[in-house]
Amino acid sequence: MKELVIIGQGPAGISAALYAIRGGASVTIVAKDSGALAKAEMIQNYYGFENGVSGKELVDQGIRQAKNLGVRFADAELFGIEFGANGFEVKTSVSTLEAGAVVIACGISRNVPPIENIQTYEGRGVSYCAICDAFFFRGKKVAVVGSGAYAANEYGVLKNVIQDVTVLTNGEKAGFDPAIPHRDSKILRLEGAETLQQIVFSDGSYEQYDGLFVACGSAGAFELSRKLGLETANNKIVTDEKRATNIPGIYAAGDCVAGLQQIAKAVYDGMIAGTEALKFLKAHT
Ligand SMILES: Cc1cc2nc3c(=O)[nH]c(=O)nc-3n(C[C@H](O)[C@H](O)[C@H](O)COP(=O)(O)OP(=O)(O)OC[C@H]3O[C@@H](n4cnc5c(N)ncnc54)[C@H](O)[C@@H]3O)c2cc1C
Repeated sequence: MKELVIIGQGPAGISAALYAIRGGASVTIVAKDSGALAKAEMIQNYYGFENGVSGKELVDQGIRQAKNLGVRFADAELFGIEFGANGFEVKTSVSTLEAGAVVIACGISRNVPPIENIQTYEGRGVSYCAICDAFFFRGKKVAVVGSGAYAANEYGVLKNVIQDVTVLTNGEKAGFDPAIPHRDSKILRLEGAETLQQIVFSDGSYEQYDGLFVACGSAGAFELSRKLGLETANNKIVTDEKRATNIPGIYAAGDCVAGLQQIAKAVYDGMIAGTEALKFLKAHT
C-alpha cells in the first residue's frame, strides 16, 4: 500500500494517524511545531482528565502514542502538495515525500500581511501560489512578501520562470540565504489601476511591480488550497461528511475544516479522515 502523509501533529493529525496505522497503513506525519493546542495552558473540557491537562502535555502524549504504534514523523515545514506520477508529492523544507493519499490537518492560519489594498488586488497581481501563477508573470517584475523558509522556497519557484524577483521582508529580519535579493523596508500599500502597478513603502519610496506573491509565515490551509485547487469557503477547506475534499485522495480534518475549533471535534474529524484515507489507499494500491 502507498504511504499516507498527514500534515500536522495536532489532535486532528494524530487521530487520523492512529486510525490509519491501526488499519494497516504506513503513515508519515509532517509537522513544523505543536500547533494551537500547545498554546492552551489548561484544558478542562476534554474527556478523561479529572484535573484537566495542559495543552502541551496532551500534544506530547498524542505524539508519543502515535510513535509507539509506528507512525513516522518528519520535523519539517510543508511548502506545498503537487500531483505526482504515483499520487501526490509532498514538498517540505527537508525532502519531497511520495503519498498515495494525504490528510491535511494543519490547523488555521491565513497569513495575509496587513498591507493596505492587498485584498483589492487578489487575482489582479496578488497571488498566494507561485507554482500556479508564475507563468502569468513571465517577463514581468514581481516580489515575494515574507521573511522565512517558505518565502525563500516561493522565490526559487518563481526564479525558474521569471527573471526579476525580489523578496520583500516587510520590516522583518530575513531568515533565509542573504544571497537572495531582498529588501527589508516595511510595506505601506499597493497601488494600481485594474492590476497591481506599484508598491509603496513606509519610508515614502515606491517601486513598480506587476506581481506580489504572499508567502508570510508557513503555508497554511488557505495557501495549500490555492496550490492544489481545493475548494474553500470562509477560508476553510470544504469537505463532505467523509472529510474528503474535491480532490480524490486528499482529506482534511480539524480546525482547517468548518465547525467548532475544539479538540473533540478535531479528534472526530481525524478519525473520519484517517479511516477514509485508509479505504482510499486500499482501493487504489
Ligand atoms: C490558547 C488556546 C486555548 C485553547 N483551549 C481549548 C480548550 O480549552 N478546549 C478545546 O477543546 N480546544 C481549545 N483550543 C482549540 C484547540 O487547540 C484546537 O481546536 C485544536 O488544536 C485543533 O487541532 P488541529 O489538529 O486541527 O490543529 P493544530 O492543533 O493547530 O495543529 C496543526 C498542526 O499543523 C502543523 N502545520 C501547520 N502548517 C504547517 C506547515 N506549513 N508545515 C508543517 N506543519 C504545519 C502544525 O505544526 C501543527 O502540528 C484552544 C486553542 C488555543 C490557541
